Amino acid sequence: MTRVAIVTGGTRGIGEAISLKLQEAGVTVVANYGGNDDKARAFTERTGIAAAKWDVGDHQACLDSCARIAEEFGPIDIVVNNAGITRDGTLARMSYGDWDDVMRVNLGGCFNMAKATFGGMVERGWGRIVNIGSINGQAGQYGQVNYAAAKSGIHGFTKALAQEGAKKGVTVNAIAPGYIDTDMVAAVPPQVLEKIVAKIPVGRLGQADEIARGVAFLCSENAGFVTGSTMSINGGQHMY
Ligand code: NDP
Repeated sequence: MTRVAIVTGGTRGIGEAISLKLQEAGVTVVANYGGNDDKARAFTERTGIAAAKWDVGDHQACLDSCARIAEEFGPIDIVVNNAGITRDGTLARMSYGDWDDVMRVNLGGCFNMAKATFGGMVERGWGRIVNIGSINGQAGQYGQVNYAAAKSGIHGFTKALAQEGAKKGVTVNAIAPGYIDTDMVAAVPPQVLEKIVAKIPVGRLGQADEIARGVAFLCSENAGFVTGSTMSINGGQHMY
C-alpha cells in the first residue's frame, strides 16, 4: 500500500530533504510551502513532487488544503510538521507581532495540521506525525524567547498527542535538530555562527539529509513502538 504524506515547509531546506527521503521510501508526498513560488516550482520540476501553497498558521487553510489533498491523492497517513520561521531579538526589542508570528506558524501550525489529519489516522488505525522541534526549544537561546517557547511547546504537544494516538496505531514524535546548514542558519551572522560551531562536539553543522533520515525512520513501519519521543540530532551539542 502506498502511504500519503504531507511535509509542511517541504520545498526547501530540511523540509526538501524530508520530502525526498519519504519519496525514496515509496511514499506519495505533497510538499507544502508558505510563499516562495519560485523555489517551489523549481523543487517540483527537480523532484516530481507536488507542491501546495498555504499558510500553516491559518486554521481553515489547513483544513481545506488537507481535505483537497486527501481527495486527490488518498487519505493522509503521515504528516511532518516542519514549517518554521524565526523573528529573533532580545525581549526588549521583540514586538508582539514577532512573538505572535512565531507562535502562530511554528506551534499553531502543528495544532492546525493535527486537527486536519489526526482523526482520519485514528479511524483508519495507522498514522505517523513527526514534529520538527529544535535544540533551542530544549536548551533556550539568547534572543529567541518566541522561537524557544514555540519549539518547547512542540515537544509538549508531541507527548500529549502521542498519548491520544497510542492505542489507535498513530505515533507522534518530535525531532530536535541542532544547527543545520540551511537558509535559516545562513541568516545567522558569521561571527555568531563561528561561536556556535565551536560548541558542536562533532565540529561541523549538520546536513538536512541527516534530519531527513531520522524522520524517515519515525514514519516507517519499523517505528511502531516509538511514540512520544524526541530524537535529538545535534552533533552532540546538547545531551541529556
Ligand atoms: P527554511 O527557512 O530553510 O525553510 C522553511 C520552510 O518553511 C520553507 O519551505 C517555507 O516556505 C516554510 N514556511 C515558512 N512559513 C510558512 C507558513 N506560514 N506556512 C507554510 N510554510 C511555511 O528552514 P529550515 O529548513 O532551516 O528549517 C526547517 C524546520 O527545522 C523549521 O521548523 C526550523 O525551525 C527547524 N529547525 C531548523 C534548524 C536549522 O539549523 N536550520 C535547527 C533546528 C530546527 P517558503 O519556501 O514558501 O518560504
